[in-house]
Amino acid sequence: MNLILMGPPGAGKGTQARRIAETYGVPQLSTGDMLRAAVKAGTEVGKKAKVAMDSGGLVTDDIVVGIIADRIGEADCAQGFILDGFPRTVAQAKSLDAMLAERGLKIDHVIDITADTEALVSRITGRSTCAKCGEGYHVEHKKPAAAGVCDKCGGTLTTRADDNEETVRNRLAVYHQQTAPVIDHYRHGGQFRAVDGMEQMDTVFTKLCAILG
Ligand code: AMP
Repeated sequence: MNLILMGPPGAGKGTQARRIAETYGVPQLSTGDMLRAAVKAGTEVGKKAKVAMDSGGLVTDDIVVGIIADRIGEADCAQGFILDGFPRTVAQAKSLDAMLAERGLKIDHVIDITADTEALVSRITGRSTCAKCGEGYHVEHKKPAAAGVCDKCGGTLTTRADDNEETVRNRLAVYHQQTAPVIDHYRHGGQFRAVDGMEQMDTVFTKLCAILG
């Protein structure tokens, strides 16, 4: 199962990708997570990516295409993968088409998780994530029992540096300008579906599973 999860920042791609990965036993490939890890580790890629990430802009296509090309070649992707946050430009989508064709692979599902822009700003600026297990929280909709501590594993909750309002608005603008056109790249293929990301997380997950079968 090779799946692309699309949608604006905050639509729930990461959360849903994590649940699909657990349920279907295929890895979640989040370019955002991989880039944050590279920034934290201080690698060359991390240094190049940091400026764009801090401002809410996009990291260059060659960097993210290179990361994904390496990652889908790893053994755990043999049974499939979930692309979360990639492709984000039409050029990335075309590079992905080429790299899959070269390996005799194809995308089975492209699912767009749709959401309302204003709701996304409040969703993103209120969120935090467990540094240990990745569980997501929100100041209003999903408070942890003890402030700053994960209910599931006791890990510390962290907030992303780019989840402040100014950067979020820029990320949303970038999404509309550069990433929304990627939907048209896939819309006419039989594998494209859209799911309403404003519904409850569990409802969205049920709908995704119904599509994936
Ligand atoms: P995310 O965690 O998916 O919201 O990504 C966080 C940040 O990483 C984005 O705002 C971009 O700066 C960068 N990023 C992640 N994926 C990509 C991509 N496919 N192309 C370019 N930049 C990306």
